[in-house]
Amino acid sequence: MSIEVRNLVKRFGSFVALKNVDLEVRSGELLALLGPSGSGKTTLLRVIAGLEVADSGQVLFEGEDATQQHVRERRVGFVFQHYALFRNMTIFENVAFGLRVRPKPQRPSDADIRRRVQDLLKLVQLDWLAERHPHQLSGGQRQRVALARALAVEPKVLLLDEPFGALDAKVRKELRAWLRRLHDEIHITSVFVTHDQEEALEVADRVVVMNEGRIEQIGTPDEVYEQPASPFVYEFLGKVNLFHGRLHQGRARIGGIEIDAPDHSEAEEQPAVAYVRPHDIHVDRVIHDGGALAAHVFHILSVGPIVRLELTRDDGDAQDLIEVEITKERFRELQLAQGDQVYIKPFRLDLFPQSVEEPVH
Ligand code: ADP
Ligand code: MG
Repeated sequence: MSIEVRNLVKRFGSFVALKNVDLEVRSGELLALLGPSGSGKTTLLRVIAGLEVADSGQVLFEGEDATQQHVRERRVGFVFQHYALFRNMTIFENVAFGLRVRPKPQRPSDADIRRRVQDLLKLVQLDWLAERHPHQLSGGQRQRVALARALAVEPKVLLLDEPFGALDAKVRKELRAWLRRLHDEIHITSVFVTHDQEEALEVADRVVVMNEGRIEQIGTPDEVYEQPASPFVYEFLGKVNLFHGRLHQGRARIGGIEIDAPDHSEAEEQPAVAYVRPHDIHVDRVIHDGGALAAHVFHILSVGPIVRLELTRDDGDAQDLIEVEITKERFRELQLAQGDQVYIKPFRLDLFPQSVEEPVH
């Protein structure tokens, strides 16, 4: 079941929570809505579900206009951060609930309900806990029950709003991998809301990056991480260093370095900011061709296969630390210690011209 959102606007009083949002969720995909708190993720999810009415725009399910459809007709399954299970019901009865409350003509037989609930509990790997009560389960197990409960009524789409938000880091990671595997098995069209970039990048087929009620970028995890469309996406999706410089006729100058910038061939000179990921910076003890920026090693963090260096630029503000990641092997080669002089050069970067009216930072 594909979902299409067209030119959606949602206001709360004078505040505009969704600003002309267009989005297509492909049939069978797991799509993550990623953005900071307040960017409109939950509102968009609720409009898709029919729990919230948009001021204008359309929601289509499988090409058919569902804008006027009631939440019940849309057949969506929901999992929230705090999906309170019924405390006095067993896990089995919690999952069975949505089927038991159906009007008689649509209600499956007891034997069918039993079979379906057992299958679902197996699917979420909790069949051995069927007779327990919610308080006897861990937080992660409870969210898996919530998912089984949402799936029991055979929804056409599954909507998850920060489902792992209340769990600790280790359980979150486990459930992330588990959800990915489960989705590969059942292929239900799913929209997953999170403010955690790592979670979105690891779980989703495609990621929608939201900011202040707008979509900044839609792409595969690799696309949004490797080719961020805007400074916002760059900063939201991982660590990034900013180097201020100037653009002129297809060349960028940052400190003593000159770099080709063929996408920016404007005749007029203008200020620009280079965005550079920590692993896209070359570090050396000497200057090679093309110049480099002089820096000093401020701090070394050496855990695991990657060594993280914090550097201060000799020609810059000592408060502005540059983060660089190099392999442990390279680190040993360089034999770096705190306070050492180094020369750095970004070998991959994105330039964003900086207009005077709209500072990037
Ligand atoms: P997110 O889920 O990305 O954190 P939300 O969609 O919950 O963001 O909210 C987006 C913005 O809309 C926020 O600024 C929030 O305060 C506002 N908002 C959400 N729901 C309401 C509401 N019922 N009434 C007024 N403002 C709301
Ligand atoms: Mg939210």
